[in-house]
Amino acid sequence: MDLRKSENEGNFDPNQSGHIYQMALDIGGSLAKLVYFTDNEDCAIEGKDGISPEKAVAKSKGSKSCAVLRGKLNFKIFETSKIDDCLEFIKSMKLHLGGSQRQENPGSQTTAVKATGGGAYKYTDLFKERLGINLDKEDEMDCLVAGANFLLKVVHQEAYTYMDGQKQFMDVDHNDLYPYLLVNIGSGVSMIKVEGDGKFERVSGTSIGGGTFWGLGKLLTKCRSFDELLELSYRGNNRVIDMLVGDIYGGTDYSKIGLASTTIASSFGKAISDNKEIEDYKPEDIARSLLRMISNNIGQISYLNALRFGLKRIFFGGFFIRSHPFTMDTISVAVNFWSKGEAKAMFLRHEGFLGAVGAFMSSDQHELKKLLLNEVVQQAPSSVSCTVAGELHGEESIECRVYSA
Ligand code: ADP
Repeated sequence: MDLRKSENEGNFDPNQSGHIYQMALDIGGSLAKLVYFTDNEDCAIEGKDGISPEKAVAKSKGSKSCAVLRGKLNFKIFETSKIDDCLEFIKSMKLHLGGSQRQENPGSQTTAVKATGGGAYKYTDLFKERLGINLDKEDEMDCLVAGANFLLKVVHQEAYTYMDGQKQFMDVDHNDLYPYLLVNIGSGVSMIKVEGDGKFERVSGTSIGGGTFWGLGKLLTKCRSFDELLELSYRGNNRVIDMLVGDIYGGTDYSKIGLASTTIASSFGKAISDNKEIEDYKPEDIARSLLRMISNNIGQISYLNALRFGLKRIFFGGFFIRSHPFTMDTISVAVNFWSKGEAKAMFLRHEGFLGAVGAFMSSDQHELKKLLLNEVVQQAPSSVSCTVAGELHGEESIECRVYSA
């Protein structure tokens, strides 16, 4: 199949930077994630004769180094409660017209789009009625793991550690990736032991996750958006509400069992003795205590599960994290504290898009997928140039240049 054909079939939007060939959706409890590929208009296919990707793949097998496709994986998020915004975006970008997806099923009036998450079931009829899209459902855990494995193998410096305000990017050795614990902090939390491609087990989870932070935070602080709640937590001081070891021990450490005076003994514990009402506390202090409580708890449960299976590396994904320094610091400190420095918390740059990327990669007929997977991941990892453009806050992209050695 020639990916360039989509231009001739009227699917090219002049307002876009390139042609759209494929999209996938992950519609979760809080957020809907959309991933779509656009080629670079001017240099979609590098090489002589304007050859098709199929031919380019064939041709590249015999050549030393041939770039066969250049483009971008684009990422967008929408609140699931405003799923109409997602439908409108798809419509405005003409993503629903399908590009190569339609070509897989020529003559059909509907486009099959890979989709995962509960919303892929809940909104099946809506997508069909409004956009003529058939949501082709993929298992959520399969997609999470496939997305994480793909990103860790393909994207340069996808993973990083965060401690004491310092971000340190890690180059993960592809031959030494497994096993690891994947902790996805979405509305709820899933903990998955990953041992290879498609080889995994969901070993634990907790309902105290991103949805709890946002839900409880909204009730307690009256803030109107998740970003506002995060912003509040940035400015707050948890010591105002949390009961610290020092509060109990008269300002000193409990050094015999390794507890510093600043260690939280009881989250929100000070509120019981303060004789105050909720209005007497600053929303920013409440937000800070809440974020700390939830992040600490997740960090601790994650470590216990890593310990259970002898896993040294823990990768954290999901949109609860949002690259928020305080969230990452708290999780890292919890993992470091409980493991006595043995285990490491690592964060993924595409934190909340793992499932959507996995769904994108699950299309088993698509040439683009074959290019990305076979040419990039399996055959020539060392010759791949795939960088993330800037920090990702839901609307950025991965520049892809697919080579074959
Ligand atoms: P899910 O698939 O369950 O929706 P996500 O990985 O998308 O999971 O993460 C959802 C969580 O991300 C929310 O519970 C909330 O904590 C956090 N979050 C980050 N940004 C936003 C936002 N703009 N609106 C709502 N929640 C957000």
